[in-house]
Amino acid sequence: MALKNKYLIDLLETVKKRNQGEPEFIQAVTEVIETLEPVIEKRPDLVEAGVLDRLVEPERQIVFRVPWVDDNGKVQVNRGFRVQFNSAIGPYKGGIRLHPSVYIGIIKFLGFEQVFKNSLTTLPMGGGKGGSDFDPKGKSDGEVMRFCQSFMTELCKHIGADTDVPAGDIGTGAREIGFMFGQYKRLRNEFTGVLTGKGLTYGGSLARTEATGYGLCYFTDEMLKANGKSFEGKTVVISGSGNVAIYATEKATALGAKVVALSDSNGYIYDPDGIDLACVKQLKEVERKRIKEYVATHPNATYTEGCKGIWTIKCDIALPCATQNEIDGESAEILVKNGCWCVSEGANMPSTPEAINTYLANGILYGPAKAANAGGVATSGLEMSQNSERLSWTFEEVDAKLHGIMVSIFKACDSAAKEYGMEGNYMAGANIAGFLKVAEAMKAQGCV
Ligand code: NDP
Repeated sequence: MALKNKYLIDLLETVKKRNQGEPEFIQAVTEVIETLEPVIEKRPDLVEAGVLDRLVEPERQIVFRVPWVDDNGKVQVNRGFRVQFNSAIGPYKGGIRLHPSVYIGIIKFLGFEQVFKNSLTTLPMGGGKGGSDFDPKGKSDGEVMRFCQSFMTELCKHIGADTDVPAGDIGTGAREIGFMFGQYKRLRNEFTGVLTGKGLTYGGSLARTEATGYGLCYFTDEMLKANGKSFEGKTVVISGSGNVAIYATEKATALGAKVVALSDSNGYIYDPDGIDLACVKQLKEVERKRIKEYVATHPNATYTEGCKGIWTIKCDIALPCATQNEIDGESAEILVKNGCWCVSEGANMPSTPEAINTYLANGILYGPAKAANAGGVATSGLEMSQNSERLSWTFEEVDAKLHGIMVSIFKACDSAAKEYGMEGNYMAGANIAGFLKVAEAMKAQGCV
């Protein structure tokens, strides 16, 4: 989409100059700025208040050394990050990613997206993100613990239940959150809801583990219904085999679909009989093994090396749940050619701009990540409420609230898209609806 508004063109140029070497961040900002053009045309007061100029610059970026000792007694050094992006509507909130590809540009793109996503949830949460280039894969529990303790030794100076509340993301699951929470408690001598995604024995919320995958399916189901369709009897391809992918598989199956493929960063499995989720959970959640092990016990299933080929499998609905830019223009074309008519995003920014253009040009029902995967952070918000109340809600209560939030997010995207003349473009709707709440709050709070 080519921008016409001079103010937005100049703003994007400044962002590109100021953030050189950070293509993911520039990609995320470009997508948002392009879809906000009609809003900016209608709202000169927001330009006057410098809302967008401030919104594209994180409030604070913290980069730190994370030294730890491996099992051979050797000192290892990783780099830690926390980007506190925007606190206009609540304390910073967003996950911690542990993956070797992490650098400041990844954390900034995720933090920027988080601002809009958190706004869409209707809960009072600002946006932030953190992480490290540490790779938990292949490390012993002791090594992961020593890394997490070192990471938290610095991070604890910058976070707090009313300041900044991190959570999980790629590579950060229940084990890592537990180690980080333990170290925070020890250093600060306080038992507070400073992290979400905690274990159920120490302040975690029921349904938080399931929330992002379930929420993705609730959002998608609502989008399908609004367009006269449903999950019932449909073939679904899901990438990844981590937290989001596993619970998206569970809910899509419960809603009547057949999930036929999953992947990890090495390759993908295809099971024409439908994925046996109990086996995947055992392999990934308990044994921490690779997805290729699945075919050893499922003779009809096949394993293929390399992840990209997963998008060549014929399906009705594709749910990318692994990582950023995993569907490029070429894969999007293949999906369309094979009859796929819905793409809904569990991962953050899994589609390149070329892929998104292909969806929009071919009338694909497209559920953008900011809206479709907001169920995780929404349920983290519910975990924060329970921690503040010192109460625990039942699984059914949390799940019902999650469902209600996802339905309301879909409605907000749908009506914002309609109001600005882009009916059916839920990406534009998500960006506009998420932006307006934050923008009003920033304007009301003055130039801070
Ligand atoms: P997990 O670490 O549990 O799982 C990630 C999965 O994606 C693994 O199967 C992993 O394979 C695969 N993967 C990771 N990096 C790559 C890569 N570069 N190429 C191919 N596959 C890759 O993470 P989550 O399930 O929590 O997160 C998945 C996505 O969902 C991320 O984009 C995350 O930001 C997003 N998300 C997560 C939320 C949550 O609540 N957890 C909330 C909202 C969004 P391997 O094991 O080989 O690395």
